[in-house]
Amino acid sequence: MTVDLAAIVANLRVVRDRAGARQVLFAVKADAYGHGAVAVAREVQRAGAADWLAVATVAEGQELVEAGVTLPILKLSPAAPQDLDAAVACGLRLTVLDRETVAEADAAAGRAGAVSPVHIGVDTGMGRIGLPPERLDEVARAVDEAPHLHLEGVFTHLPISDVPEGDAFTVAQIGRFLDAVGRTEKRRGPIPQVHMANSGAILGHDLGRTTMVRAGIVGYGYDPDPARAVGPHPRAAVRPALRWTSRVSFVKTVEKGTTIGYGRTWTAPRRTTIVTVPVGYADGYPRLLSNRGRVVIGGLACPVVGRVCMDQIMVDVGPQTSVAVGDEVVVLGRQGDVEITADQLAGLTGTISYEITCGISKRVDRTWI
Ligand code: PLP
Repeated sequence: MTVDLAAIVANLRVVRDRAGARQVLFAVKADAYGHGAVAVAREVQRAGAADWLAVATVAEGQELVEAGVTLPILKLSPAAPQDLDAAVACGLRLTVLDRETVAEADAAAGRAGAVSPVHIGVDTGMGRIGLPPERLDEVARAVDEAPHLHLEGVFTHLPISDVPEGDAFTVAQIGRFLDAVGRTEKRRGPIPQVHMANSGAILGHDLGRTTMVRAGIVGYGYDPDPARAVGPHPRAAVRPALRWTSRVSFVKTVEKGTTIGYGRTWTAPRRTTIVTVPVGYADGYPRLLSNRGRVVIGGLACPVVGRVCMDQIMVDVGPQTSVAVGDEVVVLGRQGDVEITADQLAGLTGTISYEITCGISKRVDRTWI
């Protein structure tokens, strides 16, 4: 797997353009959506491509801090009580949701002799974490009164900002969020960071009086709405950073009627050449791509035949071929004019590009260019 860091930096420039004067937070959770969090975060920091980073777990944050990343890092979900001391020690910005999480965060910061910046999560329609907008003021007051906490941010999350059908819901969410923030700011003064926009909102919504955007998938080069990534005029001028290749490990000619793979689910309809490629579901190549996936070999998209094995797949390269052991196989990415995208693999397996890139396992060698 090769990650083109310059592509990520260029994609984040597109985000910055959309964000205007707002700061850019880049979500590097889940090992930077499978792209390698340390390498990605270092480059983003070096290039000034983002002002903030975000992680899901305390361990993800610690990994970045230990690697020398100094950008502020927000943990997007509440920390379990037993993780709070570690989170405070490495300077993560904590998410708090109610009086209880405020008290726990305050106690942890107190034990460390620190004043910890926190962000309050507001639930305006995601239904995952956060307090109702009507309670923001009460919890903001609790943070302001906590001796070891500093109210640095308030945020919400927009579950259907990516598709046009969600526009009305999203606009209503944004309205409720900004109204609640406005009421609190009127009482206690400005909150430094007000944020709500994921990739869908960055690309498709009015960002209002927010101060920061939270980009994820668009930074890695995918539109969260795959329907708007295709055609002559894709909505976002971004390009995938990730290319995943392998090499042909075995070549054979099979006669008509030969079956291939576990369960004998594919039978050769004619004499043809089958190649084996050392990529399997243990590498993150979904087993649902059995008899469905395509890889690029010799500049052609060739079908995966038979079931995806744990460590290998078989591919029909056709009867007339010069394909040989060692030839490059593109699993994800471009070879010549042919491209396999994470959106295509996601479409074939009933998922989203996010799950395809996050799913590439640690066994796959990684290079950052
Ligand atoms: N903000 C929060 C709270 C998230 O959970 C995520 C990702 O899941 C993002 C922002 C980034 O979303 P996206 O990758 O769709 O831009």
